[in-house]
Amino acid sequence: MAIEQTLILIKPDGLIKSLTGNILSRLSEAKLIIAGAKVVRVTRELAEKHYEHLKGKPFFDELITYIMGDIHNTRRVVAFVYQGEDAIKKIRDVVGDTNPELANPVSIRGAYGRITTNGVFENVVHASSSLEDAEKEIKLWFNPDEVIEDLYPTKEVVLSQVHTRVWA
Ligand code: UDP
Ligand code: MG
Repeated sequence: MAIEQTLILIKPDGLIKSLTGNILSRLSEAKLIIAGAKVVRVTRELAEKHYEHLKGKPFFDELITYIMGDIHNTRRVVAFVYQGEDAIKKIRDVVGDTNPELANPVSIRGAYGRITTNGVFENVVHASSSLEDAEKEIKLWFNPDEVIEDLYPTKEVVLSQVHTRVWA
């Protein structure tokens, strides 16, 4: 079986419910390695790119508000790249069905997710659902130097006049 990588996000509801430790314990059952990890402030642009395939769905606007952290008053998610054999399916199995009411109760979403009265599935985590999605999502959330392995081909570019912040 092939070595794959997959993107996992602990969504704002997972963070405010203090589930980070529980979620990481559950994910560790998949016996994969963590190749990248960071806390990300989610801009509208990033949120809309991440969920661009769902544009037009009735829950889209609410979903963007949710992943940006506006509903839970915490504008951040924690992002991970997990890597290993059959990583995408192994993680999706631990994560469970999209709808937390249909998800196996022993899965992360089954145990911790809920459906809000306005119909959004607050399901605690995101996990890539295919090889193509994983590549698109990892490239969207991580720069090549933020992951410990060379996951995808890279190229070198020379930047001039780039403004960046350093510690004062
Ligand atoms: N979602 C929702 N209602 C739906 C379908 C999806 O609120 O009927 C939300 C839910 O938070 C889900 C996200 O939109 O995790 C992305 O949907 P997708 O179909 O990609 O499900 P996932 O891959 O996250 O299981
Ligand atoms: Mg999906």
